[in-house]
Amino acid sequence: MTTKCNVCYRHCELDEGQRGFCGVRSVIDGKVTPLNYGRITSIALDPIEKKPLARFMSGSKVISVGSYGCNLRCPFCQNYEISWSAEAFELGKRAKYLSPEELADLALTYKREGNIGVAFTYNEPLIAYEFVRDTAKLVHENGMKNVLVSNGMATIDVLDEISPYIDAMNIDLKGFTDAYYQDLLKGNRQMVMDFIAEAVKRCHVELTTLIIPGENDTKEEIYNLSKWISDLTDAEGNRIGPEIPLHISRFFPRFNMTDRDATDVALIYDLADTARENLKYVYTGNC
Ligand code: SF4
Repeated sequence: MTTKCNVCYRHCELDEGQRGFCGVRSVIDGKVTPLNYGRITSIALDPIEKKPLARFMSGSKVISVGSYGCNLRCPFCQNYEISWSAEAFELGKRAKYLSPEELADLALTYKREGNIGVAFTYNEPLIAYEFVRDTAKLVHENGMKNVLVSNGMATIDVLDEISPYIDAMNIDLKGFTDAYYQDLLKGNRQMVMDFIAEAVKRCHVELTTLIIPGENDTKEEIYNLSKWISDLTDAEGNRIGPEIPLHISRFFPRFNMTDRDATDVALIYDLADTARENLKYVYTGNC
């Protein structure tokens, strides 16, 4: 008998002990469980602007943690060492365990260094949303903040589990065609759009689009993407989309995508201007 994982659109049907596409969710005693729960591969006290969050507690710092695994397969992944390369799963085996209590305590210890809380980032945090939820709850109990940096490819049930404890999110909206998500990233654009549309009703949200030459770099695509954002509403139905910050970032050849040059800086500035036709706060990244 198989058990279904409901974290993302793949809804992997798993046998006992079998891992899903993300490489970290498996069935243990009949229950889908994240094998990377609390397994920390990366930890740093980062400026909040590096998440990137441009309009949330500017000038502060946040303890940023990552584990391993991902439910996308972006060939240009900037964090492939911990996301979905063979190396990532080897590293995962040796990753140090930090319990939610230990991580929340660590965040408190760094308060005197300007730390505001914990950011769940680097790999895809929602494939172990249970760790995010359990830790973020304790961080809130200590009077500190939680930040999520995600690809947004998760169900609203997952959002329901974590959103009571998350203060700010940066979510990737990586492109604005189904083909780009399906064929290149092995993902699902509609699921990401649904997640974003609901997340903006619950906490501060900023969005990021990495511009890949020849893939998602037309003015038309960025106009359509920014127009969709501009129509988003809050929980009361008020249109808040034009106030949602968008980060348009430059690609550098990495991992399995080294067949093209870095995105032209002038193009990034051009596309940012296009997005500004619909949005008030558009930032350029990696330029
Ligand atoms: S989170 Fe992982 S196991 Fe669950 S449906 Fe997505 S890819 Fe499959």
